[in-house]
Amino acid sequence: MSEPVLTIVVPCYNEEEVLPETIRQLRDLLQQLIAEQLVSEQSKLLFVDDGSQDTTWTIIYKASLRYPEVKGLKLARNAGHQNALLAGLFAAKMLSDCIVSIDADLQDDISVIREFMKKFHEGYEIVYGVRNKRDTDSFFKRHSAQGFYKLMKAMGVHIVYNHADYRLMSRRVVEELERFEEVNLFLRGIVPLLGFRSTTVYYDRKERLAGETKYPLKKMLAFALDGITSFSITPIRFISLVGFVSFFVSLFFGAYFLFLKFNGYTQTGWTSLITSIWLLGGLQLIALGLIGEYIGKIYKETKRRPRYIIDLDLFNFPLPLPVNH
Ligand code: UDP
Ligand code: MG
Repeated sequence: MSEPVLTIVVPCYNEEEVLPETIRQLRDLLQQLIAEQLVSEQSKLLFVDDGSQDTTWTIIYKASLRYPEVKGLKLARNAGHQNALLAGLFAAKMLSDCIVSIDADLQDDISVIREFMKKFHEGYEIVYGVRNKRDTDSFFKRHSAQGFYKLMKAMGVHIVYNHADYRLMSRRVVEELERFEEVNLFLRGIVPLLGFRSTTVYYDRKERLAGETKYPLKKMLAFALDGITSFSITPIRFISLVGFVSFFVSLFFGAYFLFLKFNGYTQTGWTSLITSIWLLGGLQLIALGLIGEYIGKIYKETKRRPRYIIDLDLFNFPLPLPVNH
């Protein structure tokens, strides 16, 4: 039996500082894997340029002219990490037996791909890369991530703990993934839903080799909220519960204040009034915001807009001539 064709998909957004090194290291690794007969000689690296404003595409394009195993996919505009990843997965699917997704910043130990391949040979269709410890992440990131996992779990969404988007999937898995047509696809939630034979491989996560994180706090929060609202309606239920509780509490206090009033106490009542106005106002706004969040989701989904737009696909359609890019 011949070795499986592996494609390593790397989403890149403004990664010019680290990309040359990433390409070098991944090419080295691929060569080793081919020599060890773990993967076929047809295996490729697919770099997805997610609408970068820097020279990321030039680096990818030039590398693809020099090295036959390096391929590029250029998105017409920035579609976000998840969408860039999906673009790469779906483009690579036809010509690959299995696909590994990894970030461009070399934070994830690339040598673990060897373990991924061994697991694939053992018959696993999904292999999750799981971080041993997160001591290279900032204190804040570590704890916010921890809180996120706990929250997701409490809301009944099963995601793999300390697993980012570093994983191997067989072609079959990616084909099934394609049937999930929601525009807002949260991979870490969907992949475990697919089933299939899966396993985990542990590794140490390092610091970003160069460049800055493309996930500042704002994006991280949006990502977390997206994850929760696309999988769980618990927040809506929780809000209704809070509504009921505050309703009964206010009934109780109303009765109590009436009782005081008829027994001769002339309280000004300002404190309780103002507190309840603020409290209820706050709760109502939270509730409205949450409902808006879901409605926004429905709105986005009903439009059925494409998740990403491909400008150039050098993986499936290699260019005959160099062009000005
Ligand atoms: N990324 C992307 N599009 C974006 C933001 C990020 O393709 O809009 C890529 C980025 O180049 C990197 C990966 O997604 O390869 C993860 O981003 P980053 O390392 O900045 O996130 P962090 O590890 O800090 O969470
Ligand atoms: Mg990173």
